[in-house]
Amino acid sequence: MNTKCPREWRHERTVAQTADDAGCDEPSVLRERGQREVFCGLTGIIWMHRKIQDAFFLIIGSRTCAHLMQSAAGVMIFAEPRFATAIIEERDLAGMADANEELDRVVTRLLDRRPDIKLLFLVGSCPSEVIKLDLSRASQRLSAQLSPKVRVLNYSGSGIETTFTQGEDACLAALVPSLPTEAADAAPSLMVVGALADVVEDQFDRMFKAMGIDNVRFLPSGSADNLPPVGPNTHYLLAQPFLADTAWHLEDRGAKRIAAPFPLGEEGTTLWLRAAAETFGVSDEVFDTVTAPGRERAKRAMAHQSERLAGKRIFFFPDSQLEIPLARFLSREMGMVPVEVGTPYMHRDHLAEELEMLPSGVRLSEGQDVDKQLDRCRADAPDLVVCGLGLANPLEAEGIATKWSIELLFTPIQGYEQAGDLAELFARPLVRRTRLEV
Ligand code: SF4
Repeated sequence: MNTKCPREWRHERTVAQTADDAGCDEPSVLRERGQREVFCGLTGIIWMHRKIQDAFFLIIGSRTCAHLMQSAAGVMIFAEPRFATAIIEERDLAGMADANEELDRVVTRLLDRRPDIKLLFLVGSCPSEVIKLDLSRASQRLSAQLSPKVRVLNYSGSGIETTFTQGEDACLAALVPSLPTEAADAAPSLMVVGALADVVEDQFDRMFKAMGIDNVRFLPSGSADNLPPVGPNTHYLLAQPFLADTAWHLEDRGAKRIAAPFPLGEEGTTLWLRAAAETFGVSDEVFDTVTAPGRERAKRAMAHQSERLAGKRIFFFPDSQLEIPLARFLSREMGMVPVEVGTPYMHRDHLAEELEMLPSGVRLSEGQDVDKQLDRCRADAPDLVVCGLGLANPLEAEGIATKWSIELLFTPIQGYEQAGDLAELFARPLVRRTRLEV
């Protein structure tokens, strides 16, 4: 059992990994700690709120946070959203007792208006007024008041502590301690961890069941009433590469990780499914029978796009933490040439299989010093740049085709049926630029 907090754990691992780097066969990594251009962890709410149907995310923040959520969510909200911002501004310490009362009032009003809410996340942000509020204590107080009808949890989406996809990690990590305990004599179960589009989740669920793996659960689940149990018989399979703290909390509850690359492209999906199949003793014959049709469809769908992408040079700015699995997919299955693969954080254990499959000589960078990275990008003159919204417009103005990394979180991209769409996401900006040039 882990006895240290996740932050300590991560720090120690980073130090140990740095020491291990010297002399090993892994590619060297350029570590940068300068100005960065990455969204904060609040952004994750935009996809997470659609996943857990009876949850609500109440951001305790400023007008800036409310604006970010509005502009990032933009046209993607069709129904009444399951998130809102409680704006807490310009308070001194003497006003903090009022802030707690006000928070209670906001929560009561919200729950009166939305009786369907079963799980409420209080999400912290950066303003100093919010940092002074003890959201952990507030969530315990509210949970005690509202139990058992509503469970209240908290996590931070602050830009000081989190980047972009770390918001999902913080949210799921907050959820893990409240998962039910799996019976000690329960049959081994498979837990797929990381928010996936419903259509993708259904496809994976069907394939695992067809292989004979019946005890399959997903975290997050679609409902707060249906959270997956966890215990020493749980084998978890990460569907996303940015869930370091969630993994730590799962292991703290006895779950074991199934090491695998991530399910992007035909190859990644096959290796991801195979890792689970091997853990559960599925025969090669059954595995091949279940996966062969999907593999064929994925290959056919990707073939068209690989004609457009083969030989094109691609540069990744650090943003979503999907960069390394994407670079692996694009180089091995689409024939693209990654020149730099930047990622905000690199979890070497979770990415070990991915790193082994990257082409040799690719430049890897972790963290960011945005001006230096922009200089490297201009010098490389890639055909396509994957980056956040803040960098895309200036780069486009310089004549460089870009792909917004945020789209890779909003679009279903995992699994066989989505492999063609994933490839097309990268082909589209190149086609658009060719048309503009004509
Ligand atoms: Fe709010 Fe901080 Fe994110 Fe800005 S960076 S939107 S202040 S949480």
